[in-house]
Amino acid sequence: MRHCKVFDNCIWSDYGCFTETLQAASVPLDGKWPLMVLLLRGVKDFHFLSEVQKSAMQTLMLDILRNKDFSDNNFLKVQGIFFDIVTQPLVDKIEEVSRETFALANDMTELFGRHKTEVANAANGVDADLSKGKNPAELLSSLRDTLKGVVAKMEEDAAFFEGLSHKDSLTGLANRRAFDEFLNMAISNWVTSKASVSLIMFDIDHFKKFNDTYGHLVGDQVLRTLAEQIKRIVAPLDNGNSNILGARYGGEEFAVILHGDIADRAVAIAEVIRKTVQKTTLLLRDKDEKVVHSGLRITISAGVATAWTGWGGVYQSNLIDSADKALYHAKHMGRNCTVRFDPNSAEGYILVT
Ligand code: GH3
Ligand code: MG
Ligand code: MG
Repeated sequence: MRHCKVFDNCIWSDYGCFTETLQAASVPLDGKWPLMVLLLRGVKDFHFLSEVQKSAMQTLMLDILRNKDFSDNNFLKVQGIFFDIVTQPLVDKIEEVSRETFALANDMTELFGRHKTEVANAANGVDADLSKGKNPAELLSSLRDTLKGVVAKMEEDAAFFEGLSHKDSLTGLANRRAFDEFLNMAISNWVTSKASVSLIMFDIDHFKKFNDTYGHLVGDQVLRTLAEQIKRIVAPLDNGNSNILGARYGGEEFAVILHGDIADRAVAIAEVIRKTVQKTTLLLRDKDEKVVHSGLRITISAGVATAWTGWGGVYQSNLIDSADKALYHAKHMGRNCTVRFDPNSAEGYILVT
């Protein structure tokens, strides 16, 4: 058997019989493939990757070993998949941020347009007053008052705008930006002070079919109703000290972040929300407020995770990924149920419903 010294006698000596493993899998020992396999094999130690990214890399490595296509073309393809896995979370974030920025830019344009008109009206007023021969002192004082008024309105707008930039426009619930900021704060706090953080992710069951049956506008009303229910359940639990946040995570997915003592109640709160939605009969109206559907029901599935030191890093992504995976399991267990991430269980996830 050919033996490759490179792998057994240097920094990779930890990998022991690595060359034998490669040979058994027919990986050519010369060239770049052993490095790629080694890289993919070592991802478990890369703390900057989330568990979902690591598992995607593991799958990629198994595919390479299974397909045994060690051509240059396939190497380029594998390299592409590798970079996609690394960059996907960033791409998702950039897309989300650019969508929000676009919406904000539109709102800002509208606000600036309003002030432009106010300032133009003031300038026209000055021209008119001047032509009427108004006393300059009076004129200046009235102009100063007008400008003060505009500045006060702009300050109000800035405060309104700050609120707007953290609210989802369809449902009025906290948006993804507010979600990210809150989770970031909660995780930093957890790292320094150990105050727990739990995350509940909700996803409406079979919502595509619902939209297809009743239309997108009716679907939007369902999203608003669900947001109202989350708000109503979450609001009384809020101690005014950043302990809980309900948010629209995106599309038909909602989230609740629980920080501090309340984090221990995440599963129970997820169940309260899920059961409330299950019991609710929806009254849906057309744009003229006429009731078009009554007695409809939807269900939601929930995934719950609590920040865990075992992740060793990228806690924010790992918490989201774990709640997301728990949600995925809830879907596979028949929907309308809650699954929680449990690092101590054999499967890693437990059905709690
Ligand atoms: P599952 O139970 O597996 O979650 O099935 P699903 O049909 O809900 O899942 P899928 O992800 O295939 O579909 C999500 C649907 O949510 C598709 C999309 O049209 C709808 N959706 C996302 N955002 C909005 C929105 O803002 N308004 C409306 N009306 N629908 C939305
Ligand atoms: Mg979904
Ligand atoms: Mg869904």
